[in-house]
Amino acid sequence: MTIKNFILDTDADGIVTITWDMSDKSMNVIDMSVMDDLEAIVEKLKTDGAIKGAVITSGKDSFCAGADLTMLDALLKQYHAGVIRNELEANKQLFEQSRRLSQIFRALETCGKPVAAAINGTALGGGLEICLACHHRVASDNEKTKLGLPEVKVGLLPGAGGTQRVARMAQPADALQFLLQGRELRVVQAQAMGLVDKVVPAKDLIKTAKQWILDGGKPVAPWDADGFKNPARVYSPAGMMTFMPANALYRKETWDNYPGARGILSCVYEGALVPFDTALTIESRYFANVLKSPQAAAMIRSLFVSMQELNKGARRPKDVPAKKLKKVGVLGAGFMGAGIAYVTANAGIDVVLIDQTQEAADRGKAQSEKLLTDSLRKGRIKEADKDATLARINATTDYEALADCQLVIEAVFEDRNVKVDVIQKAEAHLSRSAVFASNTSTLPITSLAKASARPKSFIGIHFFSPVHKMMLVEVIMGKRTGDKALALALDYIRAIRKTPIVVNDVRGFYANRCVGNYLLEAHLMVMEGIPPAMIENGARMAGMPVGPLTLTDEVAVDLAWKILQAAKKDLGEKAVDPRQEKLLEEMVVKRGRLGRKAGKGFYEYPDVGKKYLWPELPELAPEQKSADEVSIGEIQNRFLATMALEAARCIEEKVVVDVREADVGSILGFGFAPWSGGTLSYIDMMGAKAFVEMCKGLAKKHGKRFRVNRLLKEMAENGETFYGRFPPGGAAQTAKAA
Ligand code: NAD
Repeated sequence: MTIKNFILDTDADGIVTITWDMSDKSMNVIDMSVMDDLEAIVEKLKTDGAIKGAVITSGKDSFCAGADLTMLDALLKQYHAGVIRNELEANKQLFEQSRRLSQIFRALETCGKPVAAAINGTALGGGLEICLACHHRVASDNEKTKLGLPEVKVGLLPGAGGTQRVARMAQPADALQFLLQGRELRVVQAQAMGLVDKVVPAKDLIKTAKQWILDGGKPVAPWDADGFKNPARVYSPAGMMTFMPANALYRKETWDNYPGARGILSCVYEGALVPFDTALTIESRYFANVLKSPQAAAMIRSLFVSMQELNKGARRPKDVPAKKLKKVGVLGAGFMGAGIAYVTANAGIDVVLIDQTQEAADRGKAQSEKLLTDSLRKGRIKEADKDATLARINATTDYEALADCQLVIEAVFEDRNVKVDVIQKAEAHLSRSAVFASNTSTLPITSLAKASARPKSFIGIHFFSPVHKMMLVEVIMGKRTGDKALALALDYIRAIRKTPIVVNDVRGFYANRCVGNYLLEAHLMVMEGIPPAMIENGARMAGMPVGPLTLTDEVAVDLAWKILQAAKKDLGEKAVDPRQEKLLEEMVVKRGRLGRKAGKGFYEYPDVGKKYLWPELPELAPEQKSADEVSIGEIQNRFLATMALEAARCIEEKVVVDVREADVGSILGFGFAPWSGGTLSYIDMMGAKAFVEMCKGLAKKHGKRFRVNRLLKEMAENGETFYGRFPPGGAAQTAKAA
C-alpha cells in the first residue's frame, strides 16, 4: 500500500528515518489515514530484514498536534446511530475502533527493531503517545517545544497508552499531576520527569537518535524487560502516599464532574496492578466509556471544535479582505488600558498608549514591564523579547501619535462625557479606514457612536479582566456598525490570540448578564440565611471555578453596588431586587466592606494566612438556616439554571446569534461549568423538557426570575435542542443589531 503522510528514507546502516509530513495540513495530526500508514510502517519494520532500526521525526516545525478530534466526533455519531439498532454491538464496535491507535503503538513498541523518536517540536496528545511508545526519545532544545497530554481538558483521557507509559516512566505523583492537569511541559521539564532521554541542539537531533541505535539500543520497553519495577506500585508505602491523597485532591479540584479525569485516576491505579498489555486494555475500556459520556461530547464540541471555528473567524464577514494589524491606539492607561496595551504589544503590534498625563501613561506602560519581567523570570521569554515588546509601546499624551493607527480602543473612565471627549479628540487624527472601539462595560455602543463622525467604523471590543489572562473578547455591534469594522475587530482579536464572540448591543451584553445572575443568586442566598460556606461550595460543586462571593470580592463589592444603582436609575425600582440592594448597601455603605482591594468584603483577608469567610456575614440575613435545612443539590441547580436561562433569553432576543458563541463565551468569559460544554449545552444535555420542569419548581419556590422564556417552552414541547434548532453557522445568524 502507498504511504501518504510519511516519507521513509533508509541509510547505509539500515536505519530508516520516518518523517511525518502531512501535505494537506500545516501541522501533523492523527486521523484515519495516519493510522493506516502507521500500521503499514510497523508491518514493514517487523518484516523487512534490511531495516535495523528506525527514527521517527516530523517534517514540520512541530512534531504532532494530537488526534484529530473531529474523527472522534464522527466515531461518536456512528456509535449513537448504532446504539438504536443494537446496543451491545455498538459498544463493541466503539471499543474496537477507539483502541486502534493504542494497538498500533503497542505493535510499534514490540516490533522487534529499535525505534527512537526525534522530537523536533511540540508533541501533544497522540503525538506524544507515539513518542512514549518508541524505545528512546531525543528532543531538540527548542524552547518553544511543548510536550503534553491535554486530553483531560476536552473531557477525555489519553487513550493510546499514555496513562500507562507515563505512570511507568515518571514518579507516580508527578505522573498523576501531569495527566490530571493536562499540563504542557518544556523539554527540560519532560526530561527531568523521565519522559525524554536526551535533549540536544536541533542540528544534532537525527544524528543522536541514530547513534542510539548504532550503539546497540534495545528494542524493548522497560516494562517488557525482566525485573521491571513499576514506580507506581499500589501496595507500597509510596503507593499509599500517592493514591489516597490523589483521590482526595481529584475530588477537591473537580467535585467528580469530569469522567475523563476520573478515568485517568482509575487507569493509573488499576493499570499499576496488572501486566502491561492488560493495563492497556483497561485504559481502552475507560477511554471508550469516557468518550461516550455526554460531558466528553459537549466538551469536545465547545472547547475544541467550536472554539477553533470561532478563532479561525467563523463570524467574520467573508467578503472583507483580512488585514494585518501594525499599529493600535489605546486611550486610557488604567487597569484595562494597560492590559490591552500589553497583549497588543505582545502580539508584535505597535501601540500608542494615551492618558491624561505622561505619568499616568508611563504607569500603564510600567504594567507591561512588570508582566514581561515575570515571564522572563519564569523562563518564558528572553531579555531581548522583553525589550522588543516594551519598545513597541509609545506612552504619551499626544493624540497626534494616533495618526497611522488602524484601530483605536478606548478604556477611559466609564463616564459618557469623558468617552465622548476622547472619541472626538482621537477621530480628529484618524485615517478614514481606521476603526474606533470602546471597551465600555455598560454604555450602549449605539448611543456612544452618536459622538462619532463615522458610526459605521464604531464598534465595541469588550475585554475581561485581567486582560492578559482572560481568553474571551466580546465584540459588540452597534446599530450602524459596518462589516469592515467587524472584520478588523476580529482580525485584531485573532492577532492577539484570543477568542471572539460577536454580540448585539444590549445592557450587559452577554457575559455580564449571565454573571450578574450568578452573583444575584448568591446574594439572595445570603439573605435567605443559607450558610455562606454552602453557597461557595455549592457553586464549586456545580463546576464553577470561582465561588460567587469570592468573585464579588474580586471584582469589588462597591462595583456591584454601583452597577445596581445605575440599573435602578436607568430602568426603575423594579430592575433591582431589594434584598440584594439591602445586602450590598449594608456591606458597602454601612460597613465599608468593598472586597479584596479593601482587605475586607464577603471574606476577611488577614495580613498573614489565608482568607476566610467574614464570620458576621450570616447575621445580615433576617434569619439563619442550618445546613440541614438546605439542599446542596438545589443550590447547584439554582446557580447553573439562572445563568443558563439568561443565555437562553439572549438567544431568543438575538443578543447572541450563534449557539457556539453562547457556549464558548460562557466557559471562557465566566467559567460556566466547563464539564457541561457551556450554558446551552447544559440545557441540551439535560433536555429542554427536564430543564423547564426544574425551572418551574425553582420559580415556584424562589420567584419569577426562574420563569422560562417562550423559546424554551417551545423547545420543551417539541423535544428540541439548541444545536438542533439553531445549527451553528446557520442562516439565522446575522451580525447586525437586532
Ligand atoms: P481605570 O480607572 O483603571 O482607568 C481609566 C484610565 O483612563 C485612567 O488611567 C484615567 O487616567 C484615564 N483617563 C480618564 N480620562 C481620560 C482622558 N480624557 N484621556 C485619556 N485618559 C483618560 O478604569 P478601568 O477599570 O481600566 O476601566 C476602563 C474602561 O474599561 C471602563 O469603560 C470600564 O467600564 C471598562 N471595563 C472595565 C473592566 C474591569 O474589570 N475593570 C472590564 C471590562 C471593561
